[in-house]
Amino acid sequence: MKTFQLYIDGRFEPGEARFDSINPATGLAWANMPEARANDTNRAVKAAYNALSNPKWTDLSASARGKLLYRLGELITEHAPYLADLETNDTGKIIRETQSQITYIAEYYKYFAGLADKIEGRIVPIDKKDMDASIRNEPIGVVAAIVPWNSQLFLSAVKLAPALAAGCTIVLKASEQAPAPLLAFARLVHEAGFPPGVVNIITGFGHECGQVLTSHPLVARVAFTGGPETARHVVRNTAENFAHLTLELGGKSPVIVFPDADIESAANAVIASIFAASGQSCVVGSRLLIHNDIYEELLKRITEKTQKIVVGPPSDPDTEMGPLATLDQRTKIEHVIAASIDAGARLVIGGAIPDDMPKHGNYYQPTILDCRGVDAPVVTEELFGPVLAVSAFNDEADAIRQANATRFGLASGVFTRDIGRASRMVKQIHAGIVWVNTYRAIAPSMPFGGFGDTGYGREGGISSIQDYIRTKSVWVYTSDEPISDPFVMR
Ligand code: NAD
Repeated sequence: MKTFQLYIDGRFEPGEARFDSINPATGLAWANMPEARANDTNRAVKAAYNALSNPKWTDLSASARGKLLYRLGELITEHAPYLADLETNDTGKIIRETQSQITYIAEYYKYFAGLADKIEGRIVPIDKKDMDASIRNEPIGVVAAIVPWNSQLFLSAVKLAPALAAGCTIVLKASEQAPAPLLAFARLVHEAGFPPGVVNIITGFGHECGQVLTSHPLVARVAFTGGPETARHVVRNTAENFAHLTLELGGKSPVIVFPDADIESAANAVIASIFAASGQSCVVGSRLLIHNDIYEELLKRITEKTQKIVVGPPSDPDTEMGPLATLDQRTKIEHVIAASIDAGARLVIGGAIPDDMPKHGNYYQPTILDCRGVDAPVVTEELFGPVLAVSAFNDEADAIRQANATRFGLASGVFTRDIGRASRMVKQIHAGIVWVNTYRAIAPSMPFGGFGDTGYGREGGISSIQDYIRTKSVWVYTSDEPISDPFVMR
């Protein structure tokens, strides 16, 4: 079994307790993990707080900080195959996805490396004589970054890279469900040469490690990605100390296909939108809305493509869909599918555990439910699994009404060749991301985040640096004349 350690104040440590991590493809423990409880978590926050005044960090020029980030990006590229193997073992995500995603993550560190020395203050014109006014930017302080089990290296990159570029220090909490990739990433942070305490990487359970971290008085900002229920705890915790907060939560994203779309292209995008990562991604296009005129044609094409998806062990490069991350997740999906069929949805394909897979793996078939005119839970609930709910619409207004009939607002897709229609849809869709004739495109320079129950704040892009900066308004009296005595009348 592989063993992993916490990374606190520049040292690797076994943690206050230990637990085993399960490989979702086999159902067997494959690695032994450290667990940070209250004491370790406190020490990590204190190390980050002390690093904020350590000259080894504060005396670094902005461009030197940028160079450290760039070096970290290079190390990720060098070690991408190793990190991808770990992520595949710990989460069940297929190796072709983890390899390509991790290679791209290096770009986030490099992008923010280039921004580190472009965080400029301002001289402000004012209506007062003999006075200079300026605004300084300073790092906001200790950042607690909390990520869910899926895509941890990506979800931490959009937090760590801008925070470090701004000069903050960090406690990153890896999910207890699959901490291996981030605990291994700590070795790269160490090798890149960040001073001790600047980046601390721990893992532990939400009720203790997460609780202590988000309610810690020394934490200035919490950057949280996870589910809405957990987020409600986090909001209450941060309220105690008035810590700033970014929330990246769930989604129930619609993909809308009009009759004038390139049907083959739309079908491929739909398959990728729902079945990549076995549907366990926040931006998954779990609601497909098809115009009535092409409903049968597109549903048939998608069903044929779904039938050909190769479900198998995630470490096999030929596998196209792997297992679910946890058994609980599969059980939840089974319940929602059963309830949706009871509510009138028609099972088009899938809806069962594949019989040719290892018995203890959390495999589930790619599944499509025809939900035309049906009010089924699969249409409204975030499932985080390979289950597509398909509905029909009549016109643009009907498509918008159905697309926006959710409390989430993360991503969306529109397929049409009509540019006017695409623009009208973009304006009316209630989502932080709209992809037109494509799906899942991301870049370090583009903001990522959503509306409503998806949370608030945006990660990625130049503006995300602002989350990690606090401003200081500086007034300087420039005259040699003494300030007159305020109690002497002239
Ligand atoms: P989760 O909410 O169960 O856990 C997320 C993290 O919060 C974990 O590290 C967990 O240990 C921690 N946590 C749990 N209780 C806590 C507490 N009381 N205080 C502080 N931290 C606590 O989420 P999950 O099941 O790991 O991930 C799936 C969810 O994440 C889905 O809802 C998905 O949509 C969402 N997600 C969102 C995005 C996005 O960018 N919008 C990206 C990926 C995943």
